[in-house]
Amino acid sequence: MELKDYIATIEDYPQKGIVFRDISPLMADGNAYKYAVTEIAQYAQDKQIDMIVGPEARGFIIGCPVAYQLGVGFAPVRKPGKLPREVVSAEYEKEYGTDTLTMHLDAIKPGQRVLIVDDLLATGGTMKATIELVEKLGGVVAGLAFLIELDELQGRKNLGNYDYKVLMHY
Ligand code: 5GP
Repeated sequence: MELKDYIATIEDYPQKGIVFRDISPLMADGNAYKYAVTEIAQYAQDKQIDMIVGPEARGFIIGCPVAYQLGVGFAPVRKPGKLPREVVSAEYEKEYGTDTLTMHLDAIKPGQRVLIVDDLLATGGTMKATIELVEKLGGVVAGLAFLIELDELQGRKNLGNYDYKVLMHY
């Protein structure tokens, strides 16, 4: 299947000069959605994954069905103020200033093997902070998986030597 047929490209969104890759046509097509989720689940198959972790909001859309398919749990990464119990936090650099991501303190048990899933890797800031959260909780990052990597932003350089899987490159 040619997954790129299911990605819409929007110029100048959310601001001028940005080319946004929209995954909603992929989500809207049952076959394409299932194919993408299955590709990631197959990548994870031999990694003895205990938990899937995904940042809001599109990390949930891809990460949750992967967790369901593997028969493991899912732990959300959220913006501050969204999780009701005690959290661990990590800051990351945005184009203007910093942002913070959080996870519940008991979301990962020490030693659990984690696959982190998101829709898209751009500068890598979101993923770097997510890795930091998982490792602060004692989790082992066994792999990273994305639908899309924006190659020219070189987010990969931000991420160190983790094993990872990308379904589409732009
Ligand atoms: P980064 O932190 O790597 O710079 O940005 C990645 C995060 O921003 C991901 O969580 C992703 O959902 C969102 N993001 C940034 N650019 C795009 C884009 O063009 N398309 C989509 N679908 N998400 C994007």
